[in-house]
Amino acid sequence: MTQLTEEQKLTLDMVRDVVQREIAPRALELDENSLFPEHARDLFAQLELLNPLLPAEYGGSELGVTTLALVLEEISKACASTALLLIAQTDGMLPIIHGGSPELKQRFLPRFAGTSKLLTAIAATEPNAGSDLLAMKTRAEKKGDRYVINGQKCFITNGSVADVMVVYAYTAPDKGSKGISAFVVEKGTPGLVYGRNEHKMGMRGSINSELFFENMEIPAENLLGPEGTGFANLMQTLSTNRVFCAAQAVGIAQGALDIAMAHCRDRVQFGKPIAHLAPVQFMIADMATKVEAARLLTRQAARALDANDKSAVLYGSMAKTFASDSAMSVTTDAVQVLGGSGYMKENGVERMMRDAKLTQIYTGTNQITRMVAGRALLLQ
Ligand SMILES: Cc1cc2nc3c(=O)[nH]c(=O)nc-3n(C[C@H](O)[C@H](O)[C@H](O)COP(=O)(O)OP(=O)(O)OC[C@H]3O[C@@H](n4cnc5c(N)ncnc54)[C@H](O)[C@@H]3O)c2cc1C
Repeated sequence: MTQLTEEQKLTLDMVRDVVQREIAPRALELDENSLFPEHARDLFAQLELLNPLLPAEYGGSELGVTTLALVLEEISKACASTALLLIAQTDGMLPIIHGGSPELKQRFLPRFAGTSKLLTAIAATEPNAGSDLLAMKTRAEKKGDRYVINGQKCFITNGSVADVMVVYAYTAPDKGSKGISAFVVEKGTPGLVYGRNEHKMGMRGSINSELFFENMEIPAENLLGPEGTGFANLMQTLSTNRVFCAAQAVGIAQGALDIAMAHCRDRVQFGKPIAHLAPVQFMIADMATKVEAARLLTRQAARALDANDKSAVLYGSMAKTFASDSAMSVTTDAVQVLGGSGYMKENGVERMMRDAKLTQIYTGTNQITRMVAGRALLLQ
């Protein structure tokens, strides 16, 4: 058990209430019809939660990593896609918060203040550059007081609905990781062309888009930090967001476990609830153990980030890997515990199983996060 502060308890009580009344009842429909959670966007904006890590000096709620991780876990118990809406908000804001000059921050960050409904995104992945981000082909060339960007991105969460996004491109392709720069790009910029929104296995209540940059011109002042610092900026954002992915995975797993346990008490076979059957008890015990271990590791990683501790990269990678593998295993077992009913859409666990799969893939696949952890343990 981890101790929560009074403030965290109050925030969680509020979030639980909203999840129960407003988010859980819509989860099935969002998944079924691949709907963007407009309703949750409006609700979070109203509650000033749509800018979770924005510093208070820019009008943000500045929840901190640990509190946001708790909030994401709570939302993900009912609807992981809706939690992803908040994760994407941190994806797009963190690069500016971490790497922006005071002028750039002043230009963009106050727009997300208070009850703003503006959405953000982060655009790094390309068709030939996923785990190997240095293979990106997008280029930014300086021409006078502008940068001209050409290239494309794929799978971008909130890509086609984001008002402000951070785009990564090479300014000096021969310099490898030191040649990538980050840019702030606004919706409506000429040359920003939207491709298809993806048709996905899970996390279907979120939008993932192809983006094309066709001689897209942006003001030189939209360069985020000095030229060549984009890759470091991206890695810093990913290190933080792995913890949010872990929290989302813990929430998905807990949601599935809750449904499985309720089913065990209700479902009667051979004259008694299946909760009395030892093989079922063993499954539930293993599922609960994985959820609790993943939760503890995730909270440790979140605290390391809040404390600016150098162990944060290691714990973040371990938490993301373990929590997502646990979510995959727990949700699969939840379907098993429900038997044929688990395979049916209306019980929710098959959706959780499909949603869990993404947590093993994005913010760095679990092969990559294992490599990050291994390097941190052995080589640093
Ligand atoms: C729903 C969704 C949302 C996303 N949102 C965003 C977003 O908002 N912004 C963004 O920029 N990107 C986003 N992504 C992209 C995501 O981060 C990448 O899909 C992910 O990093 C993996 O890249 P890839 O898909 O190209 O797989 P690949 O890199 O092609 O990997 C394929 C397989 O090879 C393995 N592999 C690759 N390299 C190695 C290696 N060196 N060692 C061991 N194994 C390796 C991988 O682990 C994987 O199993 C999103 C993806 C999805 C599916």
